[in-house]
Amino acid sequence: MSIVAIVGRPNVGKSTFFNRLIQRREAIVDAISGVTRDRHYGKSDWNGKEFSLIDTGGYVVGSDDIFEAEIDKQVELAIDEADAIIFMVDVESGVTGMDEEVAQLLRKSKKPVFLAVNKVDSANRLHDAVEFYSLGFEKYYPISGINGSGSGDLLDDLVKVL
Ligand code: GDP
Ligand code: MG
Repeated sequence: MSIVAIVGRPNVGKSTFFNRLIQRREAIVDAISGVTRDRHYGKSDWNGKEFSLIDTGGYVVGSDDIFEAEIDKQVELAIDEADAIIFMVDVESGVTGMDEEVAQLLRKSKKPVFLAVNKVDSANRLHDAVEFYSLGFEKYYPISGINGSGSGDLLDDLVKVL
């Protein structure tokens, strides 16, 4: 089964989106200690295609305040392990240095990357999302993990590469 990883800095909404998509949780596979403790696995499907979803980061004693180096590690692991990567950013905060760092790591990988601009809860935030073109990806998907808008377009394109 294909593996899809959600990466991005803390608080962009990875876990909210993960929880929206998964139907059932899988056991946490503790393959690499110190890294996998921060990962949650689940199963999802779209248009009849099943895939495993990994939610990275943010499970350190209930805090999302994890080190930059740890995020980089999560991204490297996702690049190794996943067949496709959802790179999540936050329209409320705009582009951050950490987003640029993650983008750089992802652009070097050969894996398909889907840039999800989250927290686009209403149409008036659509134009704010445009600034994320600066991260250097061909396109981005404005989504709201809270109300679900935009996720269909993202998933349509995502399952095509699985
Ligand atoms: P993570 O650290 O990337 O896993 O982010 P979380 O899923 O824990 O979410 C961080 C914060 O952003 C929480 O307060 C969420 O309720 C909020 N959040 C997540 N998705 C959305 C969204 O689509 N819109 C808005 N307005 N807030 C969101
Ligand atoms: Mg989280």
